Order: sequence, then C-alpha cells, then structure tokens
Amino acid sequence: MSNVLFKGDEPIPSDAIVLFDGSSLAGWHKRGSDEKAGWKVENGYMEVVPGTGDICTRELFEDVQLHVEFWLPLMADCEGQARANSGVYLQGRYEVQVLDSYKLDPQLNDCAAFYTLAAPCVNAARPPENWQSYDIFFHAPRFNELGVKTQNARASVLWNGIWVHHNLEIPGPTGGEIDHDFIKPGPLLLQDHGNLIRFRNIWARKLGC
Ligand code: MG
Repeated sequence: MSNVLFKGDEPIPSDAIVLFDGSSLAGWHKRGSDEKAGWKVENGYMEVVPGTGDICTRELFEDVQLHVEFWLPLMADCEGQARANSGVYLQGRYEVQVLDSYKLDPQLNDCAAFYTLAAPCVNAARPPENWQSYDIFFHAPRFNELGVKTQNARASVLWNGIWVHHNLEIPGPTGGEIDHDFIKPGPLLLQDHGNLIRFRNIWARKLGC
C-alpha cells in the first residue's frame, strides 16, 4: 500500500491529476472540437464566456474521485434553470447540476442533483457569490466482453462537505451527453449554459481500488 501525501497549502493528494490550478486551460478543449477552451482565466479561477461552448478535459476517466470548486453569480432577476446554471459532467455523460438553489427544496434539476435522475438528499447550498465544492466518487459502468452492460454507473457526492448522494445507481446518461459510447472512458466536462459561473481547484484521482 502506498502513502498518499499532500501537496503545498491546498489539500491535494500527491497522486491526484491537477486539472486546473488557476493559471491555464491547457488541459482543456472546446467540446466537440480540438480548439482551445474559450473560457477566461483570471485571479486563480476560470469563468464561462457565454457562447464559447462546454469545455472538456483532455484527460479521460473511468473510476474517479473528483474535486471541483464553483462560484455562482447572484442573478436576482432570474429563477429556476435560468439562475446561474452550469454543470459538472462525469465521463461527459452524467451531469451533476450546478445552479443557484440556495434555500430551495431541491428537485431533480436543482444544484447537486444528478440531472433529472436524483435530487440531493439535503440542500447544502451556500448563497451565491460564495465558493462551493463537490467531491464526487464515481464508479464507471461495467461491460462484459461482448460489450453488454453488467453494472450501471454509481456515484457518491459530497456538496460542501455534506454527503448528498450515497452510492447512487445511474442507469444512463442524464441529457446533453457527448456520446453514447458508454464503454469508453470520458472527460470531465463543464457546461456553458450562458451564465458567468466560475470554477477553481479541480483535481482528480483515478481509482483502481
Ligand atoms: Mg446544468
């Protein structure tokens, strides 16, 4: 058994792949193209530039532990899905919703929901204009040698340190997925839903255990 150490001031495990360290989008590309990600980077975070499209990591994942932090603007004149919408997609196929759902009774399309599949069991939202975090533990679907699925994907999620999904079974994609090649590894995808969402401190550990 190897030891997992921590790097620097941030509690990043030594075996993590740093996907965004606040300085560059070099590890990312525009969805569906080889073009560079069009989002802007400043002050240690990335921010959606509306209309430039979703962005994907060049690194591909199967089983993974993912840490991502996000910041939502206050959109006081907007409601529901129009209020600070983005998303964190595992394998580019399974969306954990990003939305300003502060103080709402969470539904299947609110923040931390697996979109249209499962609401978080509690609402752990912070008010907009605060940094929030997801820690996601994703178990990729399994297939036999004929390519037939033998196990659905599963995931557990901590939202701001609060356990909101426990080993949730994910029978299929949640909408807006990159493809239906479910047997293949996929990227981490962040959604451009037209709102000025920020992300920072993104890292992942490929899980072999
Ligand atoms: Mg979304």
